[in-house]
Amino acid sequence: MLTLLTASISDMTDTATQVIYARVPAAFKQEADAYAEVRGATLTRAVVELLQKGLAATEEESTVAELRARVNQLSAEKETLEARLVTAEAELGAVRSLAQRIRRPIGKCPACDSSISGYDLLGSGQCEKCQTDLSHLILPSPGAKSPLNQRELLILVGALGAVLGIAYLASK
Ligand SMILES: [Zn+2]
Repeated sequence: MLTLLTASISDMTDTATQVIYARVPAAFKQEADAYAEVRGATLTRAVVELLQKGLAATEEESTVAELRARVNQLSAEKETLEARLVTAEAELGAVRSLAQRIRRPIGKCPACDSSISGYDLLGSGQCEKCQTDLSHLILPSPGAKSPLNQRELLILVGALGAVLGIAYLASK
């Protein structure tokens, strides 16, 4: 059963009022009457208050939904950044390992017999002491005995390969 409920709505900034006619269930009318009675307000005042509360709650619901969506978006962005950080740390590890490896002695200079490092061989390309060109040591002539420690050379090439792999993937 529906009861006719009439309420004039006015807001704080605009004193003009509008009239809403609405058929509502009898129970709703009774509850609105009770709400008004408890507060010593008119039915109109009570209905206006209830409507305002209802509208505010609806607005809050959409605000909460927006905040939830934002939280989800931020969580997704955080996961992406964390994944990138893990990748960056792995890349940095490979670069550090190459930086350590390239300083190690890898053999003897064929000219002055002083120790040469991976950097002398692959970086500057010459003996730090006597400036002899070392590039021919990378590809020695067949049958010639290499002055390089083959095990150190292989490890150095492996560390270099890891960094080259990262650079290659980053360029794609
Ligand atoms: Zn030398």
